[in-house]
Amino acid sequence: MTETRPDCVLKAEINLYYDLRVADEPNAPLLIALHGYGASKRQMLREAQLMAPDGFAIVALQGFHQHMRDPKEPGGPLRFGFGWVTNFRPEESIDIHHKAVLELIESVASNKVADPTKVFLLGFSQSCALNYRFAFTYPAKLRGIVGMCGGVPGDWETSDRYQKTAADVSKIVEEAYKIFGEFGYTDYTFIVNLRGGGGLEHLNSTALQYDRFGFKPESRYKGFLGLVAHEYFHNFNVKRIRPDALGPFDYEKENYTKLLWVAEGGTEYYSNILLRRAGLITAQEYLEARANGIEQLMTQPGRLETSVEEASFDAWIKYYRQDENSVNNQISYYDKGELVNMMLDITIRGMSDGRKSLDDVMRYLYNEYFKKGRNYTPEDFQKAAELMAGRSLDDFFAKYVRGETDFDVNSIISYIGLQLNAVESNRGKAFIGADLIETGDRLTVRSVRADTPAYQQGINSGDQIIAIDGNRVTRDRLQQYIDWHKPGDRVRLTIFRNDRLRDIDFVLGDNTRREYSFSPVANPTEQQRRLYRDYMKSDL
Ligand SMILES: [Zn+2]
Repeated sequence: MTETRPDCVLKAEINLYYDLRVADEPNAPLLIALHGYGASKRQMLREAQLMAPDGFAIVALQGFHQHMRDPKEPGGPLRFGFGWVTNFRPEESIDIHHKAVLELIESVASNKVADPTKVFLLGFSQSCALNYRFAFTYPAKLRGIVGMCGGVPGDWETSDRYQKTAADVSKIVEEAYKIFGEFGYTDYTFIVNLRGGGGLEHLNSTALQYDRFGFKPESRYKGFLGLVAHEYFHNFNVKRIRPDALGPFDYEKENYTKLLWVAEGGTEYYSNILLRRAGLITAQEYLEARANGIEQLMTQPGRLETSVEEASFDAWIKYYRQDENSVNNQISYYDKGELVNMMLDITIRGMSDGRKSLDDVMRYLYNEYFKKGRNYTPEDFQKAAELMAGRSLDDFFAKYVRGETDFDVNSIISYIGLQLNAVESNRGKAFIGADLIETGDRLTVRSVRADTPAYQQGINSGDQIIAIDGNRVTRDRLQQYIDWHKPGDRVRLTIFRNDRLRDIDFVLGDNTRREYSFSPVANPTEQQRRLYRDYMKSDL
């Protein structure tokens, strides 16, 4: 361990610089605005003026650390802006920030520019965290706090490219409302950041990230609506209907639950169901995507090793720490969880002759757990599902939730008059079966599924493939070469493994990967037609 000690102490005074926009009236409400990393008070005053209601005084404070470009960067080592924290002794930066805000309030109050009991604190990017800290340390000093991260509001409201979205989002909200019969909030905000991808759920809002050019074509736009529906449904499923270990949280520790297959898998399931009910995707699109989900799952040997309960519980050590072997011993509680929820929903519909569905399970959990201030356990969830099905579902849960059995899809979906078709459309085509990644002119094995010729014949993840039968390969050339051959043909693969060159004699396998689709059963009964209509909102 090393310790940093000061050899001498230099006392310095820090001058605070701020820009002030005075309101027409004295003792106005005050907005204190702090800029982000590498920016300045001038830029922030402009943003704050756009946001502040009429009659507000505004102060834009400048950060006290100068940010310099690296000497090696173009334009370096000149200063390019200011900031609030440095890596060295950040606790001192926190103190200075808090003192600065306090003194600023005192200063503008003393000359009657602003009313010290009506102070709002606005932070952009880097200053957000410090502002929140301030709010928790001095709650009596503030009326409100606003955080802005990664972008300036505007595009969404002003660009006609996004206008259609508002209408579609309200359809999604309406369909969720129909399930629960109420909203758990008084207002709800969709925050859309037009870059990146993904989302985060909160009690009364969600922060979504989506590529600003991702609203066309239609298929990508539907991807955005799926994200909206997923994060929105979370305000019911997980933010209010809470699994055992998920809240109140101990943020110092990892929180373990076996129920992420409901919290995430169920939410993903409902995101697509809501899109279908809202008429934003067709029944055909819905069913194709689920058949595709089954297809993906069936290529994962890990489905026979790990249950959705285990996958949920191990999220901290497995899902968020994937390695090259994850495909062989893991499954995703999102992807398989979605399918388990689908199978459960259809099972309940079938067993109750259409009187109940997973909607009733969700509503029951909302009323009996969230509203009574309780979290639910895996046993509670099963009991709720059994209550709706009207009989024991222990066999279902033992096989598909706690166990690793493949779905008996046809026996379940025949309730709604569907059957699953599997076609081996690649049968007779030669293949190696390794998952490859090409970076620059390097072709490397990323992972090897346990049920492939590559696995059986000793190809390892990390192997760099150089040549096949003495011919240098790229990913395309390798594929073309294999396409010229038949299953059973012998080839010589030249690889680097751990920087050692070696040849592997390889027998090409037969590609047995299946493609799945749903279709109506022959001669569906009236009951099957009715249950299908209830489920898919269209005729079989
Ligand atoms: Zn989620």
